[in-house]
Amino acid sequence: MTKRMLISGGRVVTAVDDVQADVLVEDGIVVAIGRDLDALAGDAERHDARGLIVLPGGVDVHTHLDYDTGSAHTCDTFESGGKAAAFGGTTTIVDYAHQHRGESPLHALEDWMKRAASATVDVGAHMILTDAAGAMMADARTLIRNEGVTSLKVFTAYPRSLMLDDGAVFRALRAAGAEGGMVCVHAENGAAIEILIEEAVAAGRTSPKYHALTRPASMEGEATSRVIRLAELAESPVYIVHVSAADAVEAVVEARDRAIPVFAETCPHYLFLTDAAYEAESFAEGAKVIMTPPLRGKEHQNALWRGLASHDLQVVATDHCPFCASEATLGRRHSKATEVQSFDVVPNGAPGLETRLPLLFDAAVAKGRLSLNRMVDITATAPAKLFGLFPRKGTIAVGSDADLVLLDPAGRSRVSAAGHHSRIDYSLFEGFELAGAIRKVFLRGRLIVDGAEWHGRAGMGTYLKRGPSGAVRL
Ligand SMILES: [Zn+2]
Repeated sequence: MTKRMLISGGRVVTAVDDVQADVLVEDGIVVAIGRDLDALAGDAERHDARGLIVLPGGVDVHTHLDYDTGSAHTCDTFESGGKAAAFGGTTTIVDYAHQHRGESPLHALEDWMKRAASATVDVGAHMILTDAAGAMMADARTLIRNEGVTSLKVFTAYPRSLMLDDGAVFRALRAAGAEGGMVCVHAENGAAIEILIEEAVAAGRTSPKYHALTRPASMEGEATSRVIRLAELAESPVYIVHVSAADAVEAVVEARDRAIPVFAETCPHYLFLTDAAYEAESFAEGAKVIMTPPLRGKEHQNALWRGLASHDLQVVATDHCPFCASEATLGRRHSKATEVQSFDVVPNGAPGLETRLPLLFDAAVAKGRLSLNRMVDITATAPAKLFGLFPRKGTIAVGSDADLVLLDPAGRSRVSAAGHHSRIDYSLFEGFELAGAIRKVFLRGRLIVDGAEWHGRAGMGTYLKRGPSGAVRL
């Protein structure tokens, strides 16, 4: 029997549209958008959206859920992370699976699938490559071709654990490009940064601010340009993750001006916070903002906003990589607490999954920094297009999954870790007062968030076998 659902009287906003319309859903798929669809709806479940904005569910293409770094483990599972995402208006996550050295990426995907089985929203996977030897690359190509994992990730940072040399990065770019995939790059000059870290620690400069001072913006810019040149040589698209520095934006702009298929993402913490946060009173407070790349000064933040407005940056993703501030919350392994108080041993990462859309709605509408359409584009449509999920995800159109968010523009919300659904014990944005409030969230036509109530369940998220990545020009 067909299950119908009607959302009536809302203001439907996509990356291009802004119309008063009803949205009719059948079996989880949008089947009609138009005026007065009530007559067609029959016995449909009805939701009144008068006065509300109807948005496509958010697509967050940068998370690290249930992720083991070796010395620490992120504190959100796919269940808790998905729930947090949903309450923040995100219904699709593309998370980073991780190939360890000597391990086949196919095996790494199997391992990730087990953890992702509890997902409460829809999930896809990227694959972090830390070993690009010949046989590994053959398996990576199989992932792209057969498993719907159409994006690989490489690091030019963290020489002791994750970094690939330029040759390996080039091999990954060439392989991905040849299969209709794309490489995502963490671009910082890991080798130079490693020396700065060693020097700082040897001199006893170990407080959180040295995390930022040992990872200068110029080294993010350098690695970004280098990787773009390698991508040009490989004739493959490339996606720069978590851009934080004006130097990196410049490299992206320069390449895009030459029509090179370079795409780039930034994160809410770089848009809303600055490196002043490292001057916190206690080590533990400063440790909360130890994420990589580090927070930077106002001039960098301005460059990121400018990049979003000019379309040189296409995506805002969260890099949700949560470790609790206190070891008392979930135990030391899930926390930033360490034996010695030194910036170089604190797990790198911060939360953000639940606050992305609320922060951007406030910035877009209340502060006028972006149009509402552009907000939808950078949080849903562009990431879906770049990572092979469009038009199933990322928009409201006939035939799309009915992943829908009802947002009350007249509502207000106050960010607080206490009211969040993630297992994390802090928010980077504690106390922020925001315009707008999410009232309802639907995943494939099913109401999963209803005000403060949660109707989702573990395992209801489906695995998304993605189409080609980087195949569009944005
Ligand atoms: Zn990350």
